[in-house]
Amino acid sequence: MSKSSLTQIIVPADEGNYTKGRSGRSIEAITIHHMAGRLTAKQCGRIFQAKGRYGSSHYGVGYDGSIANYVDEEDTAWTNSNWDSNCKSVTIETSDDNSSWYVNDTTLNALIKLVADIAKRRNLGKLVPGKNLTWHSMFTNTACPGDYLRSKMQYIADEANKINNESTSNEVNVYYRVKTQKHGWLKEVKNLEDYAGWENSPIIGLAIRVDKGGIKYRVTTISGKTLGWITDCDIDNYMSGWAGNGDPISLVECYYYTPDNIRPYQYAYYRVNGYPYQKDLIKAKGFDGYAGVPKKPITTFSMYIGK
Ligand SMILES: [Zn+2]
Repeated sequence: MSKSSLTQIIVPADEGNYTKGRSGRSIEAITIHHMAGRLTAKQCGRIFQAKGRYGSSHYGVGYDGSIANYVDEEDTAWTNSNWDSNCKSVTIETSDDNSSWYVNDTTLNALIKLVADIAKRRNLGKLVPGKNLTWHSMFTNTACPGDYLRSKMQYIADEANKINNESTSNEVNVYYRVKTQKHGWLKEVKNLEDYAGWENSPIIGLAIRVDKGGIKYRVTTISGKTLGWITDCDIDNYMSGWAGNGDPISLVECYYYTPDNIRPYQYAYYRVNGYPYQKDLIKAKGFDGYAGVPKKPITTFSMYIGK
């Protein structure tokens, strides 16, 4: 059994109006609907208790802000007119206010709290309209959920993300530090707030991390030895926490993995010794696919993640 703790009343849908289980799928999205009527959450639930209705939703939010649960989240409600979408969504019916598809603020605010709670418990991460925050007319030709709610999708996502402390920007921060021959590990640098390196001392170690998505990086030493890819960032882990083997580094390669909830795709931009920036491992006009010059030690490194 799984439902939001914001549920005020359970109005179980008739067992003929939904499917038990999720057909092996996992919950990836929340879908917003409109009741096309001015109802409390309890009144809406009565509709799905009718045998032969062949429709249901997981939740309803009434015009009074009431929240009811009709179908357990572990089961598949029949709401989105799309089987695939039904299997991977938690669906919410939202009450009309004045028969014009408008939704009043009491209802909207209750909806936002419910959306935030589902997103948190289901580990949906940052909510993005059209991705993991969806609406009925994305899946079939229907007026549902109406122009007003459709116009509010970004607002609903932003407010729910705020409740869950999800970053509302697509900015990715990269943090990096280098170990120099003369000084050992230097302090961590964020984005282009500084560069890593000091007093032209050859860099012999590099550690990189990002706050969203993933990064892989590797180095080639001045002797021409290319070391393995690193995806971690831990200067205490000599085996796989940073790139380097104690010899001066001459080349660096970096690649950024953009997470599903950030589009457009982002890239690692990085450079050494003030040479032009490289972009991921791209080899094209102006890009070598690596930063540095073979057999020459690098003494500065800087990096950011961008489009
Ligand atoms: Zn709908």
